[in-house]
Amino acid sequence: MCLLREAMTRVNTLHSGPDSTYDGTESTHEGPEVTYDVLGIGFGPSNLALAIAVEEHNAKAAEGERIRAAFLEKQPSFGWHRGMLIDDATMQVSFLKDLVTMRDPTSSYSFLCYLRERDRLVDFLNQKTLFPLRIEFHDYLEWAAARVAGLVEYSAEVLSVNPVTENGEIVFFDVVSRDPANPEATIVRRARSLCVATGMEPRMPSGTVRSERVFHNSELIPRVADVLAKGTPVRRAVVLGAGQSAAESVDYLHRHFPEAEICSVFAKYGYTPADDSPFANRIFDPEAVDIFYNAPPEVKQSLVDYHRSTNYSVVDMDLIESLSRTMYQEKVQGRQRMRMLNVSRIRDIDAHDDGLDIGIEFLPTAERDVLSADLLVCATGYHPRGIDERLGELGKLCRRDDEDALVVGRDHRVATHANVTADIYLQGGTEHTHGLTSTLLSNTAVRAGEIYASLLERRRDQEALSR
Ligand SMILES: Cc1cc2nc3c(=O)[nH]c(=O)nc-3n(C[C@H](O)[C@H](O)[C@H](O)COP(=O)(O)OP(=O)(O)OC[C@H]3O[C@@H](n4cnc5c(N)ncnc54)[C@H](O)[C@@H]3O)c2cc1C
Repeated sequence: MCLLREAMTRVNTLHSGPDSTYDGTESTHEGPEVTYDVLGIGFGPSNLALAIAVEEHNAKAAEGERIRAAFLEKQPSFGWHRGMLIDDATMQVSFLKDLVTMRDPTSSYSFLCYLRERDRLVDFLNQKTLFPLRIEFHDYLEWAAARVAGLVEYSAEVLSVNPVTENGEIVFFDVVSRDPANPEATIVRRARSLCVATGMEPRMPSGTVRSERVFHNSELIPRVADVLAKGTPVRRAVVLGAGQSAAESVDYLHRHFPEAEICSVFAKYGYTPADDSPFANRIFDPEAVDIFYNAPPEVKQSLVDYHRSTNYSVVDMDLIESLSRTMYQEKVQGRQRMRMLNVSRIRDIDAHDDGLDIGIEFLPTAERDVLSADLLVCATGYHPRGIDERLGELGKLCRRDDEDALVVGRDHRVATHANVTADIYLQGGTEHTHGLTSTLLSNTAVRAGEIYASLLERRRDQEALSR
């Protein structure tokens, strides 16, 4: 049995349905018997790295020094962007920026230790690359997640967080999550601090209605499998967007529908390459986070703008060259299946029983054309889930700056109002304070180490106060 189940303290019947959020009521100090030092919300790579830091600490800590931690994940098992686990896609970050190495190169949770266990260390070395396959990195993450399985509850979507007040101060949070054994019921766990790492939300173009034929690229693999299984004819598929996911989607559809025409539509003139040159790459160094954090707002903004091309709306050069080669070969052969509708925008989509009529405007002339298609894949990016969207009114406890952005400490702890002594850590959604790495893997290990250190420091402070 999962250890977390033993700590389960209260089960409620869920009346308010899946969209239930914090209703503003406060629990009293009475409640679950177990109080966690930290409850992690979401269990992607960010909180997995934190779970490992905690597990490694607990393995060598004396009884009273251990960190009581648990992590709640809505998916039924560990999964990292499963919809985009394209067979030949590679990571865009070095394997040395795994869950631990940048924090502790001697950790047994490293990618190298994983390779050794899978008996592929020498084979990987012979590939002469720093960039593993995405499916391989996913297997690594699953391997690491399995080793800390005792700290995680899956199928446990967090629905709301309720502050617990003692003498006018919010000292704990009661975290309400779905009961994996009964989706109609909830479980409440109490924690002194939260670590919110709920990732990004797929962004659809405004006004677009999702359907069997219109979907976000985050669902690419299962949707294509479904279309193929049903035998739905695909004569033409359209991909909207010009970033890495868009280019990967074009390539994937081209390979999986060998009779279909695949059209990319975007406002740029052509795909632009990701800047992964050595000096630009330094923006992802741990030291760059310190410099960014301490810079005035206008410098922060200019750093993000200057280095946007390391991450946003850019494509790996190898993929650009491969797509260009394919287009040229098809031109030579006189059968062009891969087409690029550049400097263009989708203006309207008319969905009918047999497919889609997509209105496309060529921006330089404002000329409009209607393209009949069977599928539209929107590779239109992601946006961070705001803390309000994630956890009801938890955001009301947090302080905001003049731009209405969350105030976040260097230790990733959100600044809260004076009467809140319980802590909220945030992983992701902190680009405005910690820079470009906030939604990436580059600093996952180091950030987890910083949060772990802060958790210990905060506990020491509290113990000193209560003496
Ligand atoms: C296809 C793709 C490839 C990428 N490749 C790279 C790369 O090579 N290098 C790189 O640096 N970055 C890459 N990224 C960026 C990506 O954001 C990070 O890799 C990483 O996923 C961030 O980890 P995370 O744990 O913060 O968020 P996520 O991985 O998004 O994990 C968040 C988790 O929280 C869970 N969750 C959400 N809400 C709740 C809730 N209410 N209750 C419980 N659980 C919840 C979700 O189910 C999810 O498992 C890639 C992104 C995509 C989409």
